[in-house]
Amino acid sequence: MSNRVMKRCKECGKRTLHVHPRTSHSVHLLLAIVTVGLWLPVWLMVTMYNNSQGHCTRCGKSVWLWPFFRRHQRRR
Ligand SMILES: [Zn+2]
Repeated sequence: MSNRVMKRCKECGKRTLHVHPRTSHSVHLLLAIVTVGLWLPVWLMVTMYNNSQGHCTRCGKSVWLWPFFRRHQRRR
């Protein structure tokens, strides 16, 4: 399962189709309820990880989809 999003690729220099693994939020919501909120940090981490796994379908370059991570990457 994966999400497809149109994102601007730095490598291609234009908006291209990016794919990243989809987070099954309904499953995580259920787990969060069952564990009385203990699952929330895990849910957040899984979401962040999945969002960071996006890559351009045109050049195959991985991109950080979240602005926070993009900012972090630029500093390197
Ligand atoms: Zn690209």
